[in-house]
Amino acid sequence: MDGSGDPPFLGDLAVLDGLIAEIAPTIDASAERIMDAGGLVLAPGFIDIHGHSDMTLFTHPGLESKVFQGVTTEVIGNCGLSPFPVASGVEGELADYLRLHDFSLPPDGVTWSDLDGYVRRVDGQGLGIHVAPLVGHGPLRLAAMGMDDRSPTPPELATMISVLETALRQGAWGLSTGLIYPPGSYAATDELISLARIVATHDALYSTHMRSESEGLFPALEEAIAIGRGSGVRLQVSHLKALGRSNRGKGRELLAELARSVAAGVNIAADQYPYDASATTLTATVPAWAHAGGVAALLGRLRNPGLLGVLAEEIGREIEAREGASGIMVGSCRWEHNRRFSGESLAAVAAAWGCSPAQAVIRLLSEEEGAVSAVFFSMAAEDVEAILADPLVAVGSDGHGLHAVDSAGETTHPRSYGTFPRVLGRYVREEKLLSLPAAIRKMTSIPAGRMGFTNRGLLRAGYAADLVLFDPATVGDRADYREPHRYATGVIHLLVDGKFVIRDGVLTGDRPGRLLRKGGKSCSST
Ligand SMILES: [Zn+2]
Repeated sequence: MDGSGDPPFLGDLAVLDGLIAEIAPTIDASAERIMDAGGLVLAPGFIDIHGHSDMTLFTHPGLESKVFQGVTTEVIGNCGLSPFPVASGVEGELADYLRLHDFSLPPDGVTWSDLDGYVRRVDGQGLGIHVAPLVGHGPLRLAAMGMDDRSPTPPELATMISVLETALRQGAWGLSTGLIYPPGSYAATDELISLARIVATHDALYSTHMRSESEGLFPALEEAIAIGRGSGVRLQVSHLKALGRSNRGKGRELLAELARSVAAGVNIAADQYPYDASATTLTATVPAWAHAGGVAALLGRLRNPGLLGVLAEEIGREIEAREGASGIMVGSCRWEHNRRFSGESLAAVAAAWGCSPAQAVIRLLSEEEGAVSAVFFSMAAEDVEAILADPLVAVGSDGHGLHAVDSAGETTHPRSYGTFPRVLGRYVREEKLLSLPAAIRKMTSIPAGRMGFTNRGLLRAGYAADLVLFDPATVGDRADYREPHRYATGVIHLLVDGKFVIRDGVLTGDRPGRLLRKGGKSCSST
């Protein structure tokens, strides 16, 4: 299955020097090694257009949770969060910001200041798969104006633009925003249009975690479309979903809006992870104004008795808008006395403390210094399926590259381990929601086209030999919310640039993955 969505065909494929040398019904040539892949599906390695392995790649450079899904390239730097640029004077704020989102820093800390420096640091260790970075809007804003809750002055906007252009020149594939997370949430639409215009002139991607996915979902989509229209940028809506009680059953309406914009000439598409629960920091339930000034200021407000009433009220409203306290599962807690709550519902925490769910959020965040992750069970299956079946939607995990043994005990969403095989097993083989060629297209040529990858995502002579061979009868996910650290099954061989990372279902230990830069800059150049 060549990634184009065309029907499958029986054939031979030859690899030479990391590239696909030839693909044809039969190839009559000698080779160092000839492999019979009878019974397996050969496809281009999957491109995870929405990943968050920016930091886990230091601790888990094999990115095994992705490898076993058949992924050969992951796009990092999503949701406004990238580990670069690091402007001088705000290093601490950036580290706080990354930690808040569960990004553990490498043992030697942040040793870089820009994409070039990050590449050098990543380059030093080798990766299981390729990664392709976006630059996050958060670090741009931190560089220009810290965690201030306001619009930038003209000089500050000029600083953001100049830092953005540097990142794009150094090989970033585009810009990402996370408009529910401060400082991204402090940006008005015109700021985003100004930045997206720069992205468009570089023919790069603007990828957005929209301003709301729950009560403000439709206005948030309107804003994203306005940014696309106003800038002419190639626009990607991240992890498209209809979240919360007020949006149940509105998936199709959302898709219709997307299709209308495409018809009107906006270059817009989306991606999705195939689960009915989302995961993010528990601070996502805290109103944006309480985040102003950074993590220390947020904790100050959570501990301020004078603010407890208003905070509890607003957090309570957000909890209800999502799916209520019983639909929120608490993730990892740092302190021993709170560890018993990992994997429990927020309702259970509130009951144990004899307080309201909102008060439990405040106490938990306060005790844990803001660093609590949570899983939100707040999507309807019918919406998840409607979105997955739509031809404008690519598959993207929103997950981290992890190692099932070394990462055990860390809280994560099962999407980090299961996204792609779950689509192939559950939604293609079992539920027949979409055909196998259509599903593979969503994992290969569609994301490649959105990103602007010109030699990945299809089986074509001259393309990179990023290849997956999987068993269509057994491919599937095994990770769930209680036991997320389980590798997917069914990927028998995986090649990255022609080198085996999985052979006969077993990791080879080879790490041929690199950081891919737009414009083809090699890893060592600066
Ligand atoms: Zn996001």
